[in-house]
Amino acid sequence: MKILVIGVGYTGLVTGACFANNGNKVTCLDIDKKKIDNLNKGVIPIFEPGLSKIIKDSISNNSLLFSIDYEISIKESDIIFLTVGTPMKDNGETDLRYINSAAKSIGECIDSYKLIVVKSTVPVGTSFKIQKIIQSEIDERGKNINFDISNNPEFLKQGKAINDFMSPDRIVVGIDNDKNKKIFQELYKPFSIHHDKLIFMDILSSELTKYAANAMLATKISFMNEMANISEKLGADINKVRLGIGSDNRIGFNFIYPSVGYGGSCFPKDVNSIINFSNKEGYTPEILEAVNKVNENQKKYFFKKLFNRFKSKNNDFKNKKFGIWGLSFKPGTDDMRESASIYFVKEIINLGGSVSVYDPKAINNAKEKYLKDLVGVEFCSNKMDVLDRSDALILLTEWPEFRSPDFNKLGSMLKNKIIFDGRNQFDKQDMKKNGFEYHQIGARLL
Ligand code: NAD
Repeated sequence: MKILVIGVGYTGLVTGACFANNGNKVTCLDIDKKKIDNLNKGVIPIFEPGLSKIIKDSISNNSLLFSIDYEISIKESDIIFLTVGTPMKDNGETDLRYINSAAKSIGECIDSYKLIVVKSTVPVGTSFKIQKIIQSEIDERGKNINFDISNNPEFLKQGKAINDFMSPDRIVVGIDNDKNKKIFQELYKPFSIHHDKLIFMDILSSELTKYAANAMLATKISFMNEMANISEKLGADINKVRLGIGSDNRIGFNFIYPSVGYGGSCFPKDVNSIINFSNKEGYTPEILEAVNKVNENQKKYFFKKLFNRFKSKNNDFKNKKFGIWGLSFKPGTDDMRESASIYFVKEIINLGGSVSVYDPKAINNAKEKYLKDLVGVEFCSNKMDVLDRSDALILLTEWPEFRSPDFNKLGSMLKNKIIFDGRNQFDKQDMKKNGFEYHQIGARLL
């Protein structure tokens, strides 16, 4: 099939590359000329395991193109996927300006029948609004061109995006016209080998399914963090509680790891968005408001422990220096959107302290964007360098390379043998044996 993917970010690039890798002819279009120029030179703008190879393979067999030209790209496509960003506004509402603008561009250029698929995560009812924008542009041009709208939310996880796209648990498709079922069945056949993974439904339910999935996962994380805080107050150990409840098949081990909270470009904005669009309908989603609040508080709660441990008489961090391992919001990605690390670094600096930071993949993003121009931040190229003269190590992302460090070397390089572990990576008995003061989530100091 001839596919156009509009919006070349984490979702669009993975979607385009995976479709191209499975026998389709794909154009990926973005308004960011620099990004497209770079992609045409083979420079991949994001880190995602396995992505670079399938992009290069697909380019070399002419199944993947990058463009900024709406008119030509639309002309040469049968199906158009919308994967532009739908970020959060300050009031929690979803900012639809990018998707509305992409819809307008489609309406201005569409020349023959297309199936238009909304893959961006959008508030319930948005796909129909996009349909109206496209239609009104066609009407303005005085043309009579048919198109269909559908919704096909994306459930990939950054860090495992290729695998998730190639072998999804399910493929949800919202349609209002049964004739399009066949197109989706054919398109997704290579990704649905073992059994039919397609779940067809109406468009509104499909849009809500995406939010419900993310809200459920965010709820599990906040629930566990709440249990962690209760656990610590009472002298229990959340790591043991986790084993005790995760082994229950009805609960399972996924998404119950205690931490400094969830970040990234999806959970925070999607939980806020569902609260916002439910409020507009006169409904207050109380569970989700609590999920949000627990998550916001969780990084602050852990930071407060650090503050209480190191504050000076003047309640600041003057002359204190901390080493930070991990900046991305989770391992496997260079994405720092809504990452707890940004909060930690800024708070330490605001309190007069300094930091040395290291991340296997996000360090350039930190340097060029998220921690740019902050005085008191040293960007390190390996994990041991951050320890030098540091009063404590703070672990914020559970990258595999942080899991079994050389504790002797680590202890000898730190000023104090103190670790604040926001991801509960180590065993507290072992840490005590190794002579460390080891702070973690949901368990008291030994
Ligand atoms: P992103 O910010 O990484 O990329 C968005 C891209 O859209 C940018 O390259 C931007 O230049 C481009 N764009 C903006 N306006 C445009 C326009 N008018 N025409 C063409 N391109 C335009 O975003 P992302 O993280 O890939 O997310 C995209 C959507 O997918 C969001 O709705 C998000 O919620 C959803 N989603 C993301 C993930 C994820 O893990 N990142 C997972 C599932 C769903």
